[in-house]
Amino acid sequence: MTSRKPLGRYRRIVIKIGSALLVDRKAGLKKAWLDAMCTDISDLKAKGIDVLVVSSGAIALGRSVLDLPSGALKLEESQAAAAVGQIALARAWSESLSRDEIVAGQILLTLGDTEERRRYLNARATINQLLKIGAVPIINENDTVATSEIRYGDNDRLAARVATMTGADLLILLSDIDGLYTAPPHLDPNATFLEMIAEITPEIEAMAGGAASELSRGGMRTKIDAGKIATASGCAMIIASGKTDNPLSAIENGARSSWFAPSGTPVTARKTWIAGQLQRAGELHVDDGAVVALGAGKSLLPA
Ligand code: GLU
Repeated sequence: MTSRKPLGRYRRIVIKIGSALLVDRKAGLKKAWLDAMCTDISDLKAKGIDVLVVSSGAIALGRSVLDLPSGALKLEESQAAAAVGQIALARAWSESLSRDEIVAGQILLTLGDTEERRRYLNARATINQLLKIGAVPIINENDTVATSEIRYGDNDRLAARVATMTGADLLILLSDIDGLYTAPPHLDPNATFLEMIAEITPEIEAMAGGAASELSRGGMRTKIDAGKIATASGCAMIIASGKTDNPLSAIENGARSSWFAPSGTPVTARKTWIAGQLQRAGELHVDDGAVVALGAGKSLLPA
């Protein structure tokens, strides 16, 4: 890939949506934004493209429903917030998509569901069946049961895993960050925007820094990690801002975004992944089929 390609030329697209786009701390769910997003999704589906959504926002929405004060939450508080927020989030997606007669199916995944082979195959079969019947899987990490040692913690890498798992050929990360700069733009006035990234080199990784916005878990760091996972499996990735309504139409119309080229083809990469995943995920220990440990913050990439 040497240039931007119309979204209509992709076959299966995973769209990751950051919490800050969906939830306003005071007003709660941003319904008008969600409705517009669902119109974009409906347009893609009308072109015959399979669409999967990885939606953040459970914790943020739960906080807003429960009227919790700002500041850090204890693990059990954020899990309770996620439990409350996830119901509201799934209902909101379902209602918005149903305006175009699209059915939504909720999938809540933990790290073990994508990293342990038997569970990976189960999760993949369910997602594939949803796609086959024309539904849109609405995916999130199962925050209510995932504890710090065995969780993704950010939906950027989860979305990349979902993309590789389902043989998607495009992953779009929508957040309040419009793409990759040579340095964090709020710190360095000379930072320049990168529109095309042919390969994620150590120099590109160094540009990512560690910034995260207030409502979300991932910053540029997890987005580049997601890019490594996705592109290694032949899936292109776009980082774009979702702050305006209809962000997918905006990308189509040339809105600023960073495009990462894939490095193989989805099908062969997927086969390789199935064959080699457990051996390659060096930090992951599987005991009697159960994932028992993954060091927090460890890369999920093969060494
Ligand atoms: N799973 C978290 C939630 O739905 C979001 C994680 C993230 O922001 O990446 O609240």
